[in-house]
Amino acid sequence: MEIKPVCGSASGNTSAECIGCDIVSGKVNIPGGIIHSGRSVILAADPHIPIPGFLVITAKRHIQSFAELTKEERSEIGDILSCAEKALKELHIADEITLVQEERSCHFHIWIFPVHPWIRKHFGTGIQHLREVSQYAAAHADESIWHKVSDTAAEIRRCFGSHMPQAHFVTDKETEYVYQRSRSVAVVIRGCRILMERVFYFGHEFFTLPGGGIEEGETPEQAVLRELKEECGLDGTILRPLAVQYKSGGSAEYSFEVSVPEGQEAITGYDPEEPVDNPPLKEVLWMKLDEICERDRAFLWHYGLMAVNGFFNEIKSWGDELSYPRHDT
Ligand SMILES: [Zn+2]
Repeated sequence: MEIKPVCGSASGNTSAECIGCDIVSGKVNIPGGIIHSGRSVILAADPHIPIPGFLVITAKRHIQSFAELTKEERSEIGDILSCAEKALKELHIADEITLVQEERSCHFHIWIFPVHPWIRKHFGTGIQHLREVSQYAAAHADESIWHKVSDTAAEIRRCFGSHMPQAHFVTDKETEYVYQRSRSVAVVIRGCRILMERVFYFGHEFFTLPGGGIEEGETPEQAVLRELKEECGLDGTILRPLAVQYKSGGSAEYSFEVSVPEGQEAITGYDPEEPVDNPPLKEVLWMKLDEICERDRAFLWHYGLMAVNGFFNEIKSWGDELSYPRHDT
């Protein structure tokens, strides 16, 4: 079950000959499509071995080994392994998995091999059988098995997503906006006020944090500072990352605590991607928590406001009284 063809160079650059790079760039047809596209890796069914639930985590960078991964990449891979394993077990695809990482392949990947009952029965368990099982599966592949591989990937995608926090969204545009594109937002605090934007999007007005879509080749950190400058005219400095939300469509949303120069005024800016005559960004303003409605405030907790200095104490001061809106049915 060697991944072929192997590229010539193992040193850094994307290779036209590399199957890993081809998977990442979409040149290889993946049964059932990509299950999850993270910041540094993708999770998908193996494109060559037709075993339902046989998954591969492939690095987006052309690297070879664990030793080349950054701390963030290792952390992301751990999360993905954990969610993939949960999905395989919850869906009763396999009650046991085997992980394989072969450094002799030039492009970093990890196989997540599901031990199906038929595999256990005919081949036993353990890595010594994997090559034999793969050859058997490839030799006995027919169209119905590839369909099953695709359907299983779709099932895993749905289940995988359910392990990630997500909100309820109503329109196609909203779904596209929130799920398909990774975003970065800024939490900027001045005294007890938070820098907010009043926007009109998706048919209604609400308050939200400054931020927006991450552009090609941009890091989440670069994106958040660019958006803050464009939308609020402020020169920000990242203090620290606050939270990452992984969306079921494969994108992610990053939030950062950002500081801005003390005397600098926030000026309502623009989004170059939006119409000039009726821009969705109406106003930027510094708001206290009690000026923000419950719905919009909920997003601030989701972006990690509770971890920002002072806000946890603020919550503790709220006491025990119920204030959540009740719906009598
Ligand atoms: Zn590669």
